[in-house]
Amino acid sequence: MAVRPSHPGAEQFLPDTRSLDALRSAAARCRGCDLYENAAQTVFGRGPGEARLMLVGEQPGDVEDTEGKAFVGPAGRLLDRAVGDAGLRETATYVTNAVKHFRWKGARGGKRRIHEKPSAGQSAACRPWLAAELAAVRPTVLVALGATAAGSLFGPAFRVTQQRGTMLPWPPEKGDFAGDPTPIQAALATVHPSAVLRARDEDRAEAYDGLVRDLRAAAEGLR
Ligand code: SF4
Repeated sequence: MAVRPSHPGAEQFLPDTRSLDALRSAAARCRGCDLYENAAQTVFGRGPGEARLMLVGEQPGDVEDTEGKAFVGPAGRLLDRAVGDAGLRETATYVTNAVKHFRWKGARGGKRRIHEKPSAGQSAACRPWLAAELAAVRPTVLVALGATAAGSLFGPAFRVTQQRGTMLPWPPEKGDFAGDPTPIQAALATVHPSAVLRARDEDRAEAYDGLVRDLRAAAEGLR
């Protein structure tokens, strides 16, 4: 019996037309890795096609998987608040994830689905969708939220803990986006909003302030 590769990659599922609508509809049928098997649906990015700011997270969570929309769960609400506090409320913003299907563990049919970080192979398999979103939206500023998104965009050696909040040139020198032609003026990485939610009670306000501070730095790239 032929062995089915678990991560053939999304490239073969990309449509000929690269508008956001065409991409979203094609991504709904993606079988580029094994994550579609346990998820409810593909969760593609959302926001205006002419967005100046693009925020990239890791993967959809439980609520996003159920509703089919990126960043509508608790982390999304916190991100929304942080975006407002950073003075970006009026900025046209597109939000998406490095990986478009929810990876989780737990009993099938059980009530709790526990988030599980996508593997490097799954992230790599899904990268064509993110590259296509970048090319379609052509944002002025790009922000990676958390290590998975930062690794996908800036290469696996990138460390959010050491390089967060620092404006980076685009395209990056290394990684799969080296040589990317999208004319982004500024890129940076910060923590994922879920890391703020997971912080200890006594550390949460500081973690939130750090996220807002980094988003303010991103706002500088829009001036
Ligand atoms: S996670 Fe990405 S590559 Fe894998 S099936 Fe979903 S859309 Fe395709």
